[in-house]
Amino acid sequence: MQSKKRIKAIGVAVALIVATLLAGCAQTPAATAKAAFKAGTYTASAKGMGGDVKVSVTFSATDIVSVKVDQHNETPGVGDAAIKTIPGKIVQGQTLNVDVVAGASISSKAILAAVEECVKKAGGDVAALKAKKIAAAAKAADVTETADVVIIGAGGAGLAAAVTAHQAGSSVIVLEKMPKVGGNTIISGAAYNSADPARQALSPAEAGPEATIQALIAAKPASDLHAQMQAQLKKEYEAYKAAGSKGLFDSPTLHALQTYEGGDRVGDLVLIKNYTSKTLDGVKWLESLNMKFTDTCFTVLGALWQRSHKPVKPLGTGYIEAYTTYLSANKVPVMLETTAKKVIMKNGRAVGVEAVGPTGNKITINAKKGVIIATGGFSKNIEMRQKYNKHWKTLDTSIMSTNHPGATGDGIVLGEAVGADLVGMEWIQLLPMGDPQTGSLSGNIEQGVEDRIFVNKQGNRFVDEGARRDVMTNALFQQEGATMWVVLDKHSYPTGDTKNNFNETIDELVAAGRAYKADTIEALAAQIKVPAANLAKAVADFNANVDAKTKDAFGRTLYSHKIDTAPYYAGARVPTVHHTMGGVKVNTDCQVIDKSGKIIAGLYAAGEVTGGLHGSNRLGGNALADTVVNGRIAGTSAAAAK
Ligand code: ADP
Repeated sequence: MQSKKRIKAIGVAVALIVATLLAGCAQTPAATAKAAFKAGTYTASAKGMGGDVKVSVTFSATDIVSVKVDQHNETPGVGDAAIKTIPGKIVQGQTLNVDVVAGASISSKAILAAVEECVKKAGGDVAALKAKKIAAAAKAADVTETADVVIIGAGGAGLAAAVTAHQAGSSVIVLEKMPKVGGNTIISGAAYNSADPARQALSPAEAGPEATIQALIAAKPASDLHAQMQAQLKKEYEAYKAAGSKGLFDSPTLHALQTYEGGDRVGDLVLIKNYTSKTLDGVKWLESLNMKFTDTCFTVLGALWQRSHKPVKPLGTGYIEAYTTYLSANKVPVMLETTAKKVIMKNGRAVGVEAVGPTGNKITINAKKGVIIATGGFSKNIEMRQKYNKHWKTLDTSIMSTNHPGATGDGIVLGEAVGADLVGMEWIQLLPMGDPQTGSLSGNIEQGVEDRIFVNKQGNRFVDEGARRDVMTNALFQQEGATMWVVLDKHSYPTGDTKNNFNETIDELVAAGRAYKADTIEALAAQIKVPAANLAKAVADFNANVDAKTKDAFGRTLYSHKIDTAPYYAGARVPTVHHTMGGVKVNTDCQVIDKSGKIIAGLYAAGEVTGGLHGSNRLGGNALADTVVNGRIAGTSAAAAK
């Protein structure tokens, strides 16, 4: 166990770093000539991620005395990192030249724009304040610490591992390179796939398409394990039918075989079987940490089956809040703005991590039991995308990404440097669901697969909207301008203040021009400038299939409601890089495997940084469950290491 003294020492070290940073900022105003303002308090607002961010700024004749964010609807854990830090930096530096908080840039820019407006109202010199640089913080002292388990990355997998290792009695230190925790997990749609008899019994689903199950059973097996799992599925499905069950059929075996076939049998069936057998345990563990899911399951985009659990809290904030609540209650240090640069090896064993701290100081954390790499994927690293891509025409800067700025593949490089094998690096997932301006998932109006269609600029459907993500994205690339409209109706938004999966109400999206709303399909077509007759036919054909519940011309089998109730809505979407399936090779204990097939002692990996689970195509809803299941395995394995 880590001694209290040691935890305290780290707390002091982190506090010192922060204090030094602040001191660095505070030196600036005295060093330069005083500005001139009309003293008083002024208010202004600017558009943030979740609507208007309102600020009030108080000026004396010479200084910006205070900046307050009076009102905002930025997502907790995402935009509020900017709300917490930007006002203080403006006042401390007496400047508008403040760096945006990485991962919260829209919120940061909104605060800066609103404060700029106040400066104008107070007669201040905006240009001078924008030119004024904050002095660089002095370099803090180097830090050396020791814990049982050191974790690189405070996203979903890293934090799940941290909680688990601590629950198993280990001392833990987490290193995170960004100024906030959460990684991609906190900005994801956050759906979690698991067979879950209790929730699925309540789901408004009919028995799933039998043809899907029969095809999985009848496929030519690729291995003995595959054949065994097919026989198991057959047995389970026959028992379900013999019992006269009416609700949705599901099981870890079905989930595993869909994951395997959905990734073109490229994934490792041993890893897959292990994963789907533990997803439900993961749900229960999250609930034990006070994380809440809704009572029923849905089908997230590309999930292929109605087994996606929806968190009650927006995006991935519920997971991260559950973890950070536990970690702060148990005083587990999470060192922010601390970038791991090297896994320290001694006699063939991983024994620590070398990192760079917020002021460029050296941070060395020794690991008595193990090091866990949980750094996420490389969707934001264009060079790596281009290096490994084999299946898309290009993944250069012309294709945006849904990811946060820290998704640069560091863990792949860290792992490779100590001999880790890499698997499946060429498999990079694109979604057809990017915001046309930013590539992000925000603004996506779909609530689930069953109730919406996609149409191209001609108002025609072009793909099975319940298909695999790669299939849908490839089809979208074939359409004019690689742009499509998601079309749905009141079933998805019973009221204007109903939110999408990204904490945005449909009214807000319509007001911001990011979605369109109309009382008839024809009026919607006019707004989005597609031929009305085509859109009307697309909707009518879809509605006929909802009634018939047969496979339609595109192969679609997943339906719930018709699109027949005003208001109707549409939102534009483009292809965007979302997930990198390949990564560091691991076994079912999340131990990292080297190029000769041997375990690298003391080194573990979990989450998107690993390869082998998802094969060529990750099913929607399988990533969050991966971070939880394998984060927990990595935490357990590292804590148990001798
Ligand atoms: P996963 O879903 O696999 O957990 P996430 O993207 O949610 O992946 O989290 C990965 C986290 O790792 C992110 O917060 C990211 O900023 C962090 N990270 C990436 N590279 C490093 C690094 N070199 N040092 C410390 N943290 C890192």
